[in-house]
Amino acid sequence: MSGTYPGTPFPQAAAVSTGDRTLRANLRHATHTIRAKRARAVAELEDWDRLRAAGAAIKDRTLRHLDHYLVQLEENVTRAGGTVHWAADAAEANRIVTELVQATGETEVVKVKSMATQETGLNAALAQAGIRAYETDLAELIVQLADDLPSHILVPAIHRSRAEIRDIFRDRMADWGRPAPDDLTDRPADLAEAARVHLRDKFLGCTVGVSGANFMIAETGTLVVVESEGNGRMCLTLPDTLISVVGIEKTVPAWKDLEVYLQLLPRSSTAERMNPYTSMWTGTTDEDGPRSFHLVLLDNGRTDTLADHVGRQALRCIRCSACLNVCPVYERAGGHAYGSPYPGPIGAILTPQLRGLASPLEESLPFASSLCGACYDVCPVAIDIPEVLVHLRERVAEGGETTVRGTRTVIKPARKHTAERIAMRATGWALNHPAALLKAQRLAARSRRFHPRRLPGPGRAWTDTRDLPAVPAEPFRDWWTRTHGGTA
Ligand code: SF4
Repeated sequence: MSGTYPGTPFPQAAAVSTGDRTLRANLRHATHTIRAKRARAVAELEDWDRLRAAGAAIKDRTLRHLDHYLVQLEENVTRAGGTVHWAADAAEANRIVTELVQATGETEVVKVKSMATQETGLNAALAQAGIRAYETDLAELIVQLADDLPSHILVPAIHRSRAEIRDIFRDRMADWGRPAPDDLTDRPADLAEAARVHLRDKFLGCTVGVSGANFMIAETGTLVVVESEGNGRMCLTLPDTLISVVGIEKTVPAWKDLEVYLQLLPRSSTAERMNPYTSMWTGTTDEDGPRSFHLVLLDNGRTDTLADHVGRQALRCIRCSACLNVCPVYERAGGHAYGSPYPGPIGAILTPQLRGLASPLEESLPFASSLCGACYDVCPVAIDIPEVLVHLRERVAEGGETTVRGTRTVIKPARKHTAERIAMRATGWALNHPAALLKAQRLAARSRRFHPRRLPGPGRAWTDTRDLPAVPAEPFRDWWTRTHGGTA
């Protein structure tokens, strides 16, 4: 993967992507297919709701005591022969990884899909130091060869059709290693075979691997990667040196907690009963696997997020992508419009918290939602995304101070949301003064014949496609008093 996401605010970026009919068709087909499969896989489990509640509870408890579990994790990784590094931000994480690779004398690394290294922009940092990183996940490979950016958590090349992928392989594979066959077709089996042969050279030639992890088990110092292609297993076992870059929120206390997540994650992500490959490793082992193991624990805004009592639930996320696949906004706008490796509903709440609300892009993300609630319904760890969206919108509208990676930053009250802010304040005042509210309701009821069907000023665009609800002839409380004598 190369390049960086544009910093364009969501409305402008989405205005461009929603005009691309091919993109919309690819996204619609893929998201609808995955969401239907997921619904069938989830319906097989009678205790899904209890699993979901357990998944949320374990993460919440872990996050409340994260300081304790991280220290326990460090002790156990170290005891098992690994080395733990702490990275406060992206620059520190990239510097640590670059120096570790340089210490091996290698100039090439293989990578298994890692959202944390996408977040830090590791590939670009390595390239600056003369180190080439090869993505080995099939979809990540497509994105890298196309000089593109991921647009989905689980299916980073979801915006590409099979014909496009065939052309990318034919045109670009030779620049990165073994070329694609001249007669390559767009049959999935042929495309997979071309990628397999191309990547095999990388797996056998590189002595340094870089990975992420889905979970880190504090009680033993074990890391867990789940995947579908086997590329992860290759990256984790073949190199002499393994460097794993993982966000601190991926910690779980104990092995028994995996029982919950290894049921929730595959059904929510790939609609499978279990992942085809589940790789686990604890430090280093003589004559088996990497000789040297380094764990880089990444903060990069996570402790700031943890300090927010409403927003912290975003750190429960297990990156299943179910919320993307049901989101009507993501389905039309695509992943690039969110301006970060975290697209869709989870990106709309995670990116502004990790980066802070100090730029127009991050300010715009909490508004990239219709608040329909579909994301909450499917989330396997019950993150109330609409609640966090509304909370972040309030912070954008109200302005104030925020802490971004340890630095206090002032958020200016968003001028473009002035009308909304005034309306919310007026509503708040009215709801706190019931007598005045009733008078206003009676006045509105008496004058209902003269009410406009469309809002004036900034609200006009909203009523271009909607009717204003009609004001009832009688306020509810008057009706209640008349029909029930004012009794409960
Ligand atoms: S927010 Fe929930 S549904 Fe969305 S990716 Fe994270 S765990 Fe999955």
